Amino acid sequence: MALYENQDLKIYNSLTGEKETFKPITKGHVGMYVCGPTVYNKVHLGNCRTFISFDLVFRYLKHLGYKVRYVRNITDAGHLENDAEEGEDRIAKKARLEELEPMEVVQMYTVDFHNTLQKFNNIPPSIEPTATGHIVEQIETIKKIIDKGLAYESNGNVYFDVLKYNENEHYGILSKRKLEDLIANTRELAGQSHKKNPQDFALWKKAEPQHIMRWPSPWGTGFPGWHLECTVMSSKYLGEEFDIHGGGMDLKFPHHECEIAQGTAANGKNPVRYWMHANMLTLNGKKMAKSTGNNILPEELFSGNSDKLSKGFHPSVVRFFMLQANYRSVLDFSDEALLAAEKGFDRLMQAIEYLDTLSTSNSSDIDINSWKQSCYDAMNDDFNSPVLIAQLFEAVKHINACKHHKIKLTANDISVLKATMNAMCFDVLGLEHFESDSNNNEVQDELIQLLIELRNEARANKDFAQSDKIRDQLKAMNIQLKDTSEGTTYDIIA
Ligand code: AMP
Ligand code: ZN
Repeated sequence: MALYENQDLKIYNSLTGEKETFKPITKGHVGMYVCGPTVYNKVHLGNCRTFISFDLVFRYLKHLGYKVRYVRNITDAGHLENDAEEGEDRIAKKARLEELEPMEVVQMYTVDFHNTLQKFNNIPPSIEPTATGHIVEQIETIKKIIDKGLAYESNGNVYFDVLKYNENEHYGILSKRKLEDLIANTRELAGQSHKKNPQDFALWKKAEPQHIMRWPSPWGTGFPGWHLECTVMSSKYLGEEFDIHGGGMDLKFPHHECEIAQGTAANGKNPVRYWMHANMLTLNGKKMAKSTGNNILPEELFSGNSDKLSKGFHPSVVRFFMLQANYRSVLDFSDEALLAAEKGFDRLMQAIEYLDTLSTSNSSDIDINSWKQSCYDAMNDDFNSPVLIAQLFEAVKHINACKHHKIKLTANDISVLKATMNAMCFDVLGLEHFESDSNNNEVQDELIQLLIELRNEARANKDFAQSDKIRDQLKAMNIQLKDTSEGTTYDIIA
């Protein structure tokens, strides 16, 4: 029997604003779509947080025994500079500035994206389709929406008719907006566009002569609107109705709202059962973003090469730092928070190592089955990783207490602890066991302090041969002792 049959997984559905029991459309199978990156720049840590959040979801669903088809797209055309309806294509602009082919830009940053996510130990999606690989399907979907009377052509562009759609459906159902309010809050300059109404959004845009990413269509040469690719690729690979759609909170409106409208218009079905939105990573209280420069790059974080950091951090520590927050909460990045996460991470890994060294008793001081279920309860509660991590630290307490003979654990306790800690840390949270610098540094520091003490004792006993030997041999290892009025310190000579 698969694990999911015994667990009651609840997912916070942004569409209803409630935690709902998860029931997939087809028993045992899950279809999940997540909006991928626009590959015109290096991914920053904020982007990584969103993809780590959905990697957690993917991993837990798999852990429960579901067969998951996870589709995450690559946006390589159609995403204009200002997210809305105007401006240059982001990829084309970068290509122009760097004197590259647009597809060279796409390739370069797709590779960067994959390398980075691999460092964070993200599992690749099952399918990773691109917008440019699905132009034909996008044109077909536009035709379907025009045939339903919910889109119109205007001067080589095709727009979605939001007012018409809203006569029978609710445009704003996800972001909880009312069309009347949207209209009241819009100030459109006269003659600015070819739309019937400023709320209408582009399904197809006419390419101006300088626009280099262009394809033929029944409406002339142009390119697809940004929102359309996700509707087309999700329905192609997961069906007109599928289980989970995810993305960053900032995509809820207009991107996801438009996806619902397009899917409903084209196929007569609300496309998604559970909408999940991951919250933002901030730096100095402001959203990390490519466009504002308020961000930190993963490579800076790993190397420590940044004025925002005291040192470099292992990707697994960074991942642990992110998973210590709930995916629906804002998380602020800071050096101190990472240093604290590193300490916690080391304690957790050390406890897992101790598990092999504990002596067993015939009686137990803990209720191992209830502890194990509390780990599942945390994850079943909308993937609540911080609560799971708190449970893992409960286990760390037990393991350390047993090591110091303060409590008793049976062989069964230890085997359940081992299996569950391994499953939760490595399969579900996706952490990796590595020898951390901080661990090594701490041990090294303690050893040097011990030698300094021995040297002081030797000097107090006037055993100068011994005290000089300690100093000289440390020096040979590039550790230079310094006697100051406050005592002895040391420098490590690089
Ligand atoms: P983009 O490449 O800008 O389309 O973004 C790719 C993904 O990263 C989207 O799901 C965004 O919602 C998400 N994202 C962008 N900035 C942040 C941030 N500061 N924190 C978390 N996720 C973000
Ligand atoms: Zn999308």
